Amino acid sequence: MTPVLATENLTKIYLGEVPVTAVHDVTIAVHSGELVALTGPSGSGKTTLLGLLGLLDTPTAGEVRVLGQAAGGLSDSERTALRARMLGFVFQQFHLLGHLDALGNVEAALRYRGLRASQRRRLAMDALDRVGLLHRFDHQPARLSGGEQQRVAIARALVTRPALILADEPTGNLDTENSQRLLALMHELAHDGAAVVVVTHDEEVAVRSHRRIVMRDGSVVQPATVQA
Ligand code: ADP
Ligand code: MG
Repeated sequence: MTPVLATENLTKIYLGEVPVTAVHDVTIAVHSGELVALTGPSGSGKTTLLGLLGLLDTPTAGEVRVLGQAAGGLSDSERTALRARMLGFVFQQFHLLGHLDALGNVEAALRYRGLRASQRRRLAMDALDRVGLLHRFDHQPARLSGGEQQRVAIARALVTRPALILADEPTGNLDTENSQRLLALMHELAHDGAAVVVVTHDEEVAVRSHRRIVMRDGSVVQPATVQA
């Protein structure tokens, strides 16, 4: 089966006075239905790798494939289209639009899909319901707690039913109950067929994932097949 996500010898070097090899020769594959925890010490390259996997950044060498399609040869607009069609991203900083309420922020992910406004609204309300935020649908980000903003960001990532979900420390701002809830949701999305990659320092998230990828100094240091 074609993996949802695959990399081949992926390397990212930040050029500067002292060049930094943030990601070094990483070859991984993530399949539909898998929930993978990406762990490793601070500075080991997790966020850089996630940016490459999410087609937000271009590698210095190597290739990223999404459902077999190589991203390297694509134009900027083709990459953007591939990202919009296939990917859901939950950033460390939520990147919510301050002038829109929770519903508007989630609906924004559904633009350019040829949906009627009523369909967009229904899908966005369903996504807010899944993250337990239906009752806050008309609140703007400034009127939401950090944890609630994070859940809006998650609703926005899942509303398009992406084949690949990438999350950077999604439980970082959540209390125990909401972390549990988020973890259950990640499992549900994987169960529904998504490939889910979660950068985490949270041991519970890592333990409950299907598999861990551990990074150190830019390299993957543990076989990606080790089961939690
Ligand atoms: P992690 O997410 O595991 O903490 P990062 O991917 O953020 O690691 O960083 C990996 C390495 O790359 C670190 O040494 C970091 O200082 C460096 N780095 C990250 N972003 C940049 C950048 N934009 N320019 C230069 N160096 C960077
Ligand atoms: Mg990071």
